[in-house]
Amino acid sequence: MESGMVSVDRWTAGSQVYFLTHLHADHLSGLTSKWSRGPLYCSRITAKLFPIKFPGFDLSLLHIVEIGQWHSVSLLSPSSGSSTAVSFMAIDAHHCPGAVMYLFRGEFGCTLYTGDFRWESTSERAQTGRTMLLKAMKDVQLDMLYLDNTYCNPTYCFPSREVAARQVLSIISSHPNHDVVIAVDTLGKENLLLYISRVLKTKIWVWPERLQTMHLLGFHDIFTTKTSVTRIRAVPRYSFNIETLEGLNTMRPTIGIMPSGLPWAPKAFRGMEKLSLESPPLLLHNRWHTGVTTSSTSSKTNGGSLSSGRHDHYIYTVPYSDHSCFPELQKFVEFVKPINIKGIVSSSACNVDPLYHFGGICRIQQASKLLCQRLRIKRSEKVGVIDMKSSFGCTSTMQLGRKKRKRQISRAAIHVSRVRLLRRERQGVKIVDTDPD
Ligand SMILES: [Zn+2]
Repeated sequence: MESGMVSVDRWTAGSQVYFLTHLHADHLSGLTSKWSRGPLYCSRITAKLFPIKFPGFDLSLLHIVEIGQWHSVSLLSPSSGSSTAVSFMAIDAHHCPGAVMYLFRGEFGCTLYTGDFRWESTSERAQTGRTMLLKAMKDVQLDMLYLDNTYCNPTYCFPSREVAARQVLSIISSHPNHDVVIAVDTLGKENLLLYISRVLKTKIWVWPERLQTMHLLGFHDIFTTKTSVTRIRAVPRYSFNIETLEGLNTMRPTIGIMPSGLPWAPKAFRGMEKLSLESPPLLLHNRWHTGVTTSSTSSKTNGGSLSSGRHDHYIYTVPYSDHSCFPELQKFVEFVKPINIKGIVSSSACNVDPLYHFGGICRIQQASKLLCQRLRIKRSEKVGVIDMKSSFGCTSTMQLGRKKRKRQISRAAIHVSRVRLLRRERQGVKIVDTDPD
């Protein structure tokens, strides 16, 4: 696809149509209520939640993309000035409410932009998505895959959200006399909260804006803004830190739970070495990243005995992730078999260029051969001038990937806010021509 036609989660000027995968802040940088650069496509749920994020937005610019249905838009080719049709389909990304991936087809070929997604092997929703994708890609090859490479590193291997949710529940159950605060974003982790609410038969406190979101999502009578009716509170992630937990514990015994695939360290955390020597499972360390999924919640070790004067021991991290872990990414790439692949998180301390890991799976090698064949044909036909740059793109990108990986290994500890900052800065793409031609 030519530059200047389509942007996904990228809100700079210069495209004719814009696509939003979901409403997480790191995908919205540059998008405001005063948006006027062009039509914005999103899923029905995202459109429903949109006014909360962007009050006063010109809703005539908002277009709903129904999941599993082909839509089409006629765009102008910036180079030729002629019109060209772009077909697109949204597919459930199973990330947060409303999150979708987009499949594009047209004269340019076939491109898939996953946005953030989690397709667990055991998930029925993921299976539905796979079936949908397979059908939509029937008879065509995927030329370019833009992949959620948040955890594109073999060290990231964590359990399904179902298993992680049971771990969270076990931690809560082993602290019957504690208040519990769970860190969540403005959107996402609803299923975890619903599960806790259902099993423990309790309401869950959320802050007022979050309650509004829950009501829009159709979750009534489960969440509350009254602190007196429940000991379990879902709090904004930004407010979740050692100081808060310390303050809460001066009033009532309270534990904090951070559901995340990322290793997490509180802002003012001190004494990591000391803590790691004690190594209480699930407490502020990243055991699951070694590939060993946590099999128990070690509830016995996490009671008051470990919290004696150690404020950091108030906090549990659980590998509940709305992003695919590495083995899931690998299966996904094997499934869609792209010719080329790019990460949507262009830089972070925890991942590398997906081609480094998946170059052997995707068909870039065949693509290079194909390109050479095409070059020979075109040279013999003396048609046009071929830009050779892309034919060497794979090699150079893979070398870059290795370099990046070396750098990463030296960065053992990753601060979640750093990663999130990078994601906020570098999400989204303008879809451009990626075919070796
Ligand atoms: Zn997201």
